[in-house]
Amino acid sequence: MSTATGTTTPVSLSVRDVHLAFGANRVLRGASLDVGRGGTACVIGPSGSGKSTLLRTINRLIEPDRGDVLLDGRSVLGDDPDALRQRIGMVFQQFNLFPHMTVLRNITLALRRLKRLGEDEAAQVARAQLERVGLAGRADARPAHLSGGQQQRVAIARALALQPQVMLFDEATSALDPELVKGVLGIMAELSAGGMTMVVVTHEMGFAREVADTVAFMDGGVVLEAGEPAAIFERPEHPRLRRFLAQVL
Ligand code: ADP
Ligand code: MG
Repeated sequence: MSTATGTTTPVSLSVRDVHLAFGANRVLRGASLDVGRGGTACVIGPSGSGKSTLLRTINRLIEPDRGDVLLDGRSVLGDDPDALRQRIGMVFQQFNLFPHMTVLRNITLALRRLKRLGEDEAAQVARAQLERVGLAGRADARPAHLSGGQQQRVAIARALALQPQVMLFDEATSALDPELVKGVLGIMAELSAGGMTMVVVTHEMGFAREVADTVAFMDGGVVLEAGEPAAIFERPEHPRLRRFLAQVL
């Protein structure tokens, strides 16, 4: 549900025992994850463990073979995928902005097509979101003229403009130069503090420790261990998680 101020009522998200195979490659083998209303889950784990695939099943870029995805206890698997993708925003490692369009147009496009807003209203919403990510002055720039960090902030503004109930981030800072990472993480932390329900796949253990309500460790297509950051980082139980943390911390 949306309000005039552009905030949405927080929802809970539950991924239940999701299975998915690409041919013989069983990528998800019963992955489960729970995020409370307005909560933030950080998903960590080695490359190839199924983190991106899990995110993609949540907004139905991929249909799971088995299992369910629930928003506020209601399955989204029967929903129209386009309608669902307005409720669940996603931000990728490689920004995915349209290079031939201005920053403003990158944001208004979906508002006009999906929300059926008129040009002026779409521009108004887009400018408000650009201000939120600190880019009010760059509406008329092309993506190529922005830094990677600024481009990622535009991608976040574009997702937020649709007033999603859930935001998914797939290694949103992995392609950025180190000095640009902090600004993007800062916006994500603000969003989390503002009560957005989020799932964040990240290698930024500092962010996971400080911002997450739940940290979920994925390996081999399942969430092997999940808990509060302090439990995961200070008292990991599973040997596989201990080995992973010894390598990344
Ligand atoms: P992670 O994000 O944790 O690195 P992914 O979810 O991207 O892992 O990938 C997990 C496995 O699924 C990998 O073995 C990858 O090759 C495979 N995979 C991912 N997407 C596809 C696809 N569209 N078609 C076939 N295999 C895929
Ligand atoms: Mg990935």
